[in-house]
Amino acid sequence: MKKTDDKAFFNFIKTFFGITVFILFLLFVLGQIFYPSERDKLSSNCELFQDGWYHITRDGEKVDIEFPSKLDAEYGEVVRIGTSLPEDIEDNQVICFRSIWQDVEVYIDGQLRASYNTKDSRPFGKNSAFWYVFADLNKEDAGKTVEYRFSSESKYAGSIRNCYIGDKLGVWSHLISESGARTIIIIFLLFLSIFCIVVCQILNGIYKKSLPLAYLVWTMFFCSIWMLSEVEFRQIIFKNVSILTYYTYLSLMVIPIPLLIYINDIQNGRYRKVHIIPLTYVIGMLFIGTFLQVFNIVEFVQMLPFMHLGIGTAIVTTITTITIDMVKKQISDYFIVAVGVYGLLLSAVGEMVLYYIDLGVSIGTVLAVGLMFLLVMAIIKTGQDIMKSEKKKQEAIVAREAQAKFLANMSHEIRTPINAVVGMNEMILRESTDETIKDYANNVKRASNMLLGLVNDILDFSKIESGQFELVEAEYDVASLLKDGQLILNTRAAGKKISVNVDIDENIPSKLYGDELRIKQIITNIISNAVKYTEKGVVTLRATYKDNAEDGILLCVSVKDTGIGIKPEDMPKLFDNFKRLELDKNRTVQGTGLGLSIAKQLVDLMKGEIQVNSEYGKGSEFTILVPQKVVNNKPIGNIDLYAKSENVVQKEENSFFVAEDAEILVVDDNAMNLSVIKALLKRTKANIDTATGGKECVAMASEKKYDMILLDHMMPDFDGVAALKMIRGDKNNPNKDGIIIALTANAIAGCREQYLEYGFTDYFSKPVQADKLDEMLKKYLDSKTHQNEEILENEKEEVTMNNLDLLEIDEKLGLSYCMDMEDVYKEVLGAFVEQCNEYFPELDKYYKAKDWKNYAIITHALKTNSLNIGASNFSKLSLEHEMAGKAENGEYIEKEYNTYIETLKKLVNKVESMI
Ligand code: ADP
Repeated sequence: MKKTDDKAFFNFIKTFFGITVFILFLLFVLGQIFYPSERDKLSSNCELFQDGWYHITRDGEKVDIEFPSKLDAEYGEVVRIGTSLPEDIEDNQVICFRSIWQDVEVYIDGQLRASYNTKDSRPFGKNSAFWYVFADLNKEDAGKTVEYRFSSESKYAGSIRNCYIGDKLGVWSHLISESGARTIIIIFLLFLSIFCIVVCQILNGIYKKSLPLAYLVWTMFFCSIWMLSEVEFRQIIFKNVSILTYYTYLSLMVIPIPLLIYINDIQNGRYRKVHIIPLTYVIGMLFIGTFLQVFNIVEFVQMLPFMHLGIGTAIVTTITTITIDMVKKQISDYFIVAVGVYGLLLSAVGEMVLYYIDLGVSIGTVLAVGLMFLLVMAIIKTGQDIMKSEKKKQEAIVAREAQAKFLANMSHEIRTPINAVVGMNEMILRESTDETIKDYANNVKRASNMLLGLVNDILDFSKIESGQFELVEAEYDVASLLKDGQLILNTRAAGKKISVNVDIDENIPSKLYGDELRIKQIITNIISNAVKYTEKGVVTLRATYKDNAEDGILLCVSVKDTGIGIKPEDMPKLFDNFKRLELDKNRTVQGTGLGLSIAKQLVDLMKGEIQVNSEYGKGSEFTILVPQKVVNNKPIGNIDLYAKSENVVQKEENSFFVAEDAEILVVDDNAMNLSVIKALLKRTKANIDTATGGKECVAMASEKKYDMILLDHMMPDFDGVAALKMIRGDKNNPNKDGIIIALTANAIAGCREQYLEYGFTDYFSKPVQADKLDEMLKKYLDSKTHQNEEILENEKEEVTMNNLDLLEIDEKLGLSYCMDMEDVYKEVLGAFVEQCNEYFPELDKYYKAKDWKNYAIITHALKTNSLNIGASNFSKLSLEHEMAGKAENGEYIEKEYNTYIETLKKLVNKVESMI
């Protein structure tokens, strides 16, 4: 068969199946309605026995009565009725009475044959629950008198229900066939409600919010429990019927509660106040009713009208509110449910009418059908709601993706020109000798850093939002981190009437493992806020730790201010995206409302915590607690002021690298970028080739072996990744296994892994920072780079020229190491004096012992420390001594030692006079 024939055949089968199902359904319905009954009612063994019944009155008179009927009787009065048994009684037959809340005795020919009461088996209550009471008969009983005595302490005191004669199986078969359909519906309803409860719980878990439907389902559950507790043959299913009957009434009292909650939820709480009335009534009744029953004061059965009143008021408020909504045209979002509710209420009214008309025989079927109708309607509504919210979610995801893409693109677009600004500016800083121009350039540097910070904030936010964020964990120096915090606090507070206070626990382990950069970002943020939102007073930076897990600590950093504080009602909004509080008051304070939300999300990612304590008008305290692994347990001690300075000089030293033998290819489509990188690489003296596109790059790379290729990712036509693949894939290419580094302005999370996956050796984020570029060169071209001896030589020359003012202190230089803050500089000066006083005896000791190694260590420290205060000439002299020490050049040191010490003493005196 051809393909189209197959398809046609399948379509035919589908149609055929549809028609078959329809015919089968029609046959069943029509057959059951219109064809004669063949039901085996087992009625041959069970007959209603209603003949010749009389009431034996209090005076002993016999008065004929209808059967069933209701006689006048006092509460607790024993009522006697009797008749003669038929003549055709067989062995193994029974006579069966349906008692209702009554204690019962059956006498045959004056002899007690059967009795029923629950006096010994019920926990509380005065009456026995309804029961089918069986008395065995035999042939000899034919024609004898039967007397039925019953009493009740309820309104059922004189109620007479059905009586059957037949064999026991016949009677039960009859009862089951009478109530079977209803029981099946009830059991179905029960299972359906349990199933729906489970489904609702699962949906709650998936959608993380509770569905109103769940409450309707609970309503159904209690309805089915109520009806199930009343089924005809309950006495053969349940062990203790007394307890079961309590459930009849408890369910009746509970039913309005979930129903009203459901209605209130789907009406979005518009009529909360109205619904509270029946709810309060029902809950009150539940408590009082249970109390009265448990202590045998009033029977549940006596309270039935009050229970119906509860359900009635629930119905009334439901109908009223729905009708009001209908009139106000507010029904549209739950119209389907409204139809369902009307259906249910109609069935409930029918049910109650049946209850009162039919002498208290609860049918339940009508209500069950009504409930199922409502449930179907509610399920349709829930389905619609879920579909709507899914659609919204999808739209939000699409919007978010578009946003993330937009932000990534924007960052690219913004970073490219900043790249040029930063790079070119760096060249101005390096090459200009004019102090005024250097000043301007420094300002440009500061502004571009701020701009970059802003772009990074927005990027971070978009990364975290789209779940692309990842922490980069590594070993780090806690002292350096806290020192940075201190510097940031000083910088920010400068120029405001704020004094700063730093209190750092000296026992914090010195080396930890974690994402230092991100912790710094969080601390920076809370410090900035503290200063921003404080006009005058004190900002205190505190750091301490708590033991946590086996190999880690909980690093606690807190920033306390005496600023405007936060209103208690604003607290929950504090960490919301783009949320700024008290806008009228803070109009002049710059901010995006992103800082804290990023901080909170970062802390969450670190599995830490951010706590806020604030008193409006008095100040706030933000504390971050982040678990960190400990690498080195040695306490940080007093974070002495040199910890930071070492780094400053370190960077200077790092940049003293040249690699004149190195061949580097730089590829970027943007000529500006190319010239920036070229300029930055100039002092390395490496041989630099450039290419402006992927194709050109591949062509050049196939001609010549490069020590490093810096390859831009995004280029038109033939991008960096394509070029990389060509180079890596060509076995004749000399750079097949070479060092190829991706250049990118899209520094988004996960991109490092992505670039490594493509086959890049590493990635480098634009704007290119001079020191990072140097680091990268040093890392990958280690064999080619070496310290710039020339510079050292120059320095040596200068020092040996001996005509330098060794006591010169360039305050401007010193201040620049202290972020231009006078007070920090003063502290550095003080620390310098302190340190030197410690060094004098040590130097003396090593000098005398000719321990040149340790002599070099101390002079190395002096080189760094003096440079930090701006004494660059003395620093150069120290370098001389350090090198001599390293070279074990005892001759030189012995010759120069006294002068060196004398100079240092003078320098210390000079510094002391400056403080
Ligand atoms: P912003 O960029 O506006 O500072 P944040 O997310 O950092 O954004 O902070 C959100 C809001 O929380 C701020 O606008 C401010 O109203 C409030 N806030 C943050 N820190 C403090 C503080 N230390 N004192 C008072 N209010 C603060």
